Amino acid sequence: MKAVVLYSGGLDSTIALKIVQEWGVEVYPLYVFNKFLSVKMPPQVPDLKVVDVSKEFIDIVRNPHHGYGKNLNPCIDCRILMLKRAKEYMKKIDADFIVTGEVLDQRPKSQHLDQLMLIDKEADVQELVVRPLSGALLPVTIPERQGLIDRNLLLAIKGRSRRPMMSLAGQLKITDFTSPSGGCLLTDPGFCRRLADLMRYQEKIGIRDIELLKLGRHFRLDKETKLIVGRNEAENETIEKLITGSDYFVYVPDTGSPNAMLLGNKKHIKLAASIVARYSDKKDDENVEVYYRQKKAVKKIRVHPSTNEELAGWRL
Ligand code: SF4
Repeated sequence: MKAVVLYSGGLDSTIALKIVQEWGVEVYPLYVFNKFLSVKMPPQVPDLKVVDVSKEFIDIVRNPHHGYGKNLNPCIDCRILMLKRAKEYMKKIDADFIVTGEVLDQRPKSQHLDQLMLIDKEADVQELVVRPLSGALLPVTIPERQGLIDRNLLLAIKGRSRRPMMSLAGQLKITDFTSPSGGCLLTDPGFCRRLADLMRYQEKIGIRDIELLKLGRHFRLDKETKLIVGRNEAENETIEKLITGSDYFVYVPDTGSPNAMLLGNKKHIKLAASIVARYSDKKDDENVEVYYRQKKAVKKIRVHPSTNEELAGWRL
């Protein structure tokens, strides 16, 4: 008996995987990845298959069929997409069913009974999803009817308390897992503020745009122009790597200075330079020489560093 386990590396899916393994199920963990997750590496578990749905997920985030959660998290559409991918994998490896670590009523918008059933229906996996943590409280599934799974083994966990999960983790000796939402940036208000700005002003959003949202301080200078200023060495390096031929690379030479990227209209270069000067070690100088470069041509400009009051008007 084989099952695809939707696996995020979080505690709930780790417990679900262990439980069905103990029932003697041959597990095929599947990690559905998108660029809105802050994780750098897929979770570490044997035989993990990773599918990247970033491109189609960008469209879902912009226009979710079932709306958003508290921030810009389209959890219902996201779960539907994950289960569609799980079904494809299930068919490919000829597995019998799908397993998830979902807990009934754990999340307000996507884990009520009617939402779980709606998600299964829209992903076309009705009665094929086994949820070992709450299965005793859910309708009977096909693998139960077929005798592949004993319904008496399904648990009846419900609600938001983490206590039952922590106690199960202890019993199953699980010590290694990631945060409950897998580092989903769509639940982070600061990230969502920048994303909302991007969706407002930019029609076509690509993978690089999402990467840029994850780093630096962002300043909206006009509807087509944005400045991103690095906050530390790692971000400075990433900004330099992500620069393309149409962007301006802005910095203050020979002093502690952030790297910055101006995307859009060059007419704002003076303002961009003032903001970058404000974050450099020369922020208290009257006049600061700032360099900016597009492709290989380097130019200079003298500016007065911006004040905090000025910055507040541009900062996202
Ligand atoms: S929190 Fe993020 S990753 Fe999790 S279901 Fe919602 S949108 Fe998807």
